[in-house]
Amino acid sequence: MKKQFAIIGLGRFGTSICKELYHMGHEVLAIDKDEKKVEEANQFATHAIYADATDEASLIKIGIRNFEHVIVAIGEDIQASILCTLHLKDLDVPKVWVKAQNSYHHKVLEKIGADRIFHPEKDMGNRIAEFLTSEKVLDY
Ligand code: ATP
Repeated sequence: MKKQFAIIGLGRFGTSICKELYHMGHEVLAIDKDEKKVEEANQFATHAIYADATDEASLIKIGIRNFEHVIVAIGEDIQASILCTLHLKDLDVPKVWVKAQNSYHHKVLEKIGADRIFHPEKDMGNRIAEFLTSEKVLDY
């Protein structure tokens, strides 16, 4: 079944989620404050919009409230990530999944109601370690 997603922040993490969802046939709205990234995203998103996600009025204008599932993939700018997440929860977006930079960021995101929090590098490292020690991996 076709679903709708909005991805905020088109770094490597956001872009890869965006591409994958789009190729799976879902409707994807890509958002970034960098015009060049937005232009590129037109190739792998249903719509790509230039906006500062820390500005609540811009989020409302975009129609973010119509999305059930929003992924916040803003990386280095922790303040922007927190503010954006706060607006999304204030606007009653049901599922807000957020990329965290560190444990302090994680703690704040938890407090303000992020529904799921990712640490991509750490999560992937754990998965690879599990895979490396799994019995399914042949010794070579
Ligand atoms: P990755 O590791 O996934 O490449 P990163 O952790 O280095 O990403 P950044 O490059 O800091 O993350 O941010 C990801 C994207 O988020 C960038 O394209 C940046 O322009 C965008 N971004 C940052 N702040 C905002 C904002 N306030 N509104 C919209 N987009 C933003």
